[in-house]
Amino acid sequence: MLSRPPHAATVVGSGPNGLAAALVLARAGVKVTVVEAADTAGGGLRSSTDTHGVRHDHCATTFPLAQASPFFREFGQALAGHGLELATAPVDAVHVLDTTRSATLHTSVVDTAAGLPGTDGRIWQAFFGPLGDRADRAAKVTDEFLRPILHVPRHPLLFAGFGVQAGLPASWSWGRFRSPEARALLAGIMAHAFTPLNLPGSSAAGTLLTVAGHAHGWPVAVGGSQSMADAMLAELAALGGSVVTGMQVTDVSQVSGADVLLLDTSVEDAARILG
Ligand SMILES: Cc1cc2nc3c(=O)[nH]c(=O)nc-3n(C[C@H](O)[C@H](O)[C@H](O)COP(=O)(O)OP(=O)(O)OC[C@H]3O[C@@H](n4cnc5c(N)ncnc54)[C@H](O)[C@@H]3O)c2cc1C
Repeated sequence: MLSRPPHAATVVGSGPNGLAAALVLARAGVKVTVVEAADTAGGGLRSSTDTHGVRHDHCATTFPLAQASPFFREFGQALAGHGLELATAPVDAVHVLDTTRSATLHTSVVDTAAGLPGTDGRIWQAFFGPLGDRADRAAKVTDEFLRPILHVPRHPLLFAGFGVQAGLPASWSWGRFRSPEARALLAGIMAHAFTPLNLPGSSAAGTLLTVAGHAHGWPVAVGGSQSMADAMLAELAALGGSVVTGMQVTDVSQVSGADVLLLDTSVEDAARILG
């Protein structure tokens, strides 16, 4: 624990989490330096024109959690001031099965359900309606999810409802549906889990993405995800922070001197850096 407020902080890694942490610290008056191994900042928000001159994102493309996130509520206006514009399409996502069959994800739960065959629309409505058909409810679910794992829920009933869905194996969640279209749509979203899809809890990421999408759509950053990183970097500069690129941190001695060290790296890198 620090005996005085931190004066200087170093953040290793300039992905969205590192930049978000840097902005929160910088706004609190801490002098922040972000250190990045790559030649450009942004981590998973990078876009480039490497492929045949077409500008494309390297990783993250759609941001259904952005508008609902506590970070964006705090910094969204500042980022918009630096040119960040989030845009949604009339259709959020389509899962194409073949030349005649597809399933379409709309922001509206009702519209999504209406496009699914047979009784699957009713099942979709029952699954996502109670959590995602109102932006304020979805925001509360997202709020709970984005807080530390162990916390006293502010919206216990709502969060319990989400927990029941999220706790299921993903394969059970899409297994409720009869049509290949509905199964494919949900399975594609559920595949964002970082665990095998037959394990309990593997529905969590997909359920959250769908709920947030039903409340806010699946927006993209106009000009590519890099423009989100660029807006965060511009705000950091405006708050007096700085970024060093092209510096791979392998040992804590490279980043000594700050009161606070934040590692937005892999766990393996963090262990190596800290010895
Ligand atoms: C293919 C793909 C598609 C995705 N699509 C989406 C999407 O549509 N929507 C969405 O919300 N999320 C998406 N994600 C996930 C999203 O990209 C990540 O959740 C996000 O980038 C994580 O941010 P982060 O800041 O934790 O780490 P990262 O974005 O990984 O950034 C870490 C940064 O730290 C740097 N670094 C690491 N170690 C060191 C070191 N030792 N020294 C110096 N620098 C270091 C790295 O170079 C990197 O720039 C996708 C991911 C992938 C792979």
